Amino acid sequence: MLLVAFFYMREPVTYSEDKQAYADGTLSVEKRVRAFLKTIENRKELNVFARSYEKEALQRAVEIDEKLRNGTAGALAGMVIALKDNIVWKGHELNASSRILEGYKPSFSGTAVARLLEQDAIILGHLNCDEFAMGSANEFSKYGRVKNPYDPSRTTGGSSGGPAAAISAGLCHAALGSDTGGSIRQPSAFCGVFGMKPTYSLVSRYGLVTYASSLDQIGPITNSTDDLKRIMDVISGPDGKDHTLVSSFRKKDKKSSGKVVGYFKNLLEYEKLDPEIKDYFNSLLKLMKNQGYRVVPIDFPYLDYLLPLYNVISTVEAATNLERFDGINYGKRESAKEWKDSIRKTRSQGFGSEVKRKIMMGNTVLINNEKYGFYDRAVKVRNLVKRETDKIFEEVDFLISPTTPAVAHKAWQKKEVIERYMADFFTFHANITGHPAVSVPVFAHSTGMPFGIQVSGCFFSEDQLLSFSEQILPLLKKVGH
Ligand code: GLN
Repeated sequence: MLLVAFFYMREPVTYSEDKQAYADGTLSVEKRVRAFLKTIENRKELNVFARSYEKEALQRAVEIDEKLRNGTAGALAGMVIALKDNIVWKGHELNASSRILEGYKPSFSGTAVARLLEQDAIILGHLNCDEFAMGSANEFSKYGRVKNPYDPSRTTGGSSGGPAAAISAGLCHAALGSDTGGSIRQPSAFCGVFGMKPTYSLVSRYGLVTYASSLDQIGPITNSTDDLKRIMDVISGPDGKDHTLVSSFRKKDKKSSGKVVGYFKNLLEYEKLDPEIKDYFNSLLKLMKNQGYRVVPIDFPYLDYLLPLYNVISTVEAATNLERFDGINYGKRESAKEWKDSIRKTRSQGFGSEVKRKIMMGNTVLINNEKYGFYDRAVKVRNLVKRETDKIFEEVDFLISPTTPAVAHKAWQKKEVIERYMADFFTFHANITGHPAVSVPVFAHSTGMPFGIQVSGCFFSEDQLLSFSEQILPLLKKVGH
């Protein structure tokens, strides 16, 4: 396996390059789709796709080639994408990788999906993920675990393990994932690809199977910042359906040099931080200073509150949101004489262990809220963390950190619940505050596994975040050489 890790040479496929090739006439969309389909067949053992739509994709490819010839093609003509199995596309089965949603065929498309299709992207399929996006290793899925293309004995991270592995293995140009506590960035880091969690409320959540409404965001995973930007440009903005967007959508015009970069000093003291990643990160900071960046160490006293905060808020919202899965409106129903027994049976048999754990945690918090006020206090502390983070972004242009404390671990290795939850220790922050964050891949670990550098910025600073990430790519390569 070690050999596989060391000799797995990836050829990242980017849409930007292919778009040029379509324009030059050296590649057709149909040919591109066929090539992806072949790679999917060859990499079947990775268990990435939940369902694929070969015929439909090929037919659309032919149509889009025609549009390209006519000059009527949209901005994303021939971009081949796949969707996490929690984002709806009209008429195509959706399971959220859960038994309880077997047979569910949505009657509408999510806003992000509809917008991508309008611009002539092609959807190749739905991708395996953790059940209802709950997990950080893509091990909790009715389809079984997804394998990391760099080393199949390791996890892909999660919950968007399928989307990250799909891009890493070259199975499509781009994927849409969702990020509630790190589910786009953490698997992107584990699989060596680019992943972005947008500002909360920039991208409509309409058509996303809800996990925790105040934390969830849809976002892209690709092989370049350029491709991230192309997708963000299309999927961002109000749609009249997700009402958190209407009131808050505004692009902030923060005048900044883009040269002031902060980092949390105490995050680097986290005991589980891999020493190689820590060394790498410290060298990166040094290099940035040498290159004229102002690097600001920050003591962020709220780090220890992030996991408890996340656990209280996400599970309370999950317990409430998942009430709707009763076998009556969606998916599979287990029959029983009494309707109450039918619901009980449907939920007992339909949900997997991690989903049940979150529902129980959330309901425990809610039942005890009057007595202990866990939820009320979590909301207050969350507001405090938001305010303090806003202040930080008045001083620095970006915050930077490793995306994860370690590289991808071996499958089924993390037996303790808390140990699993700590996989997102570096990513929770951006969901709790709503700030945008991107994970940029780094290839410098002695295991041969990739890891990520996370960059976050003030609200609606996606464009600046992406140009900054592009700007530091040469530095990321230079560190350690
Ligand atoms: N691993 C975290 C959880 O299970 C985050 C998941 C996510 O971002 N969807 O809650």
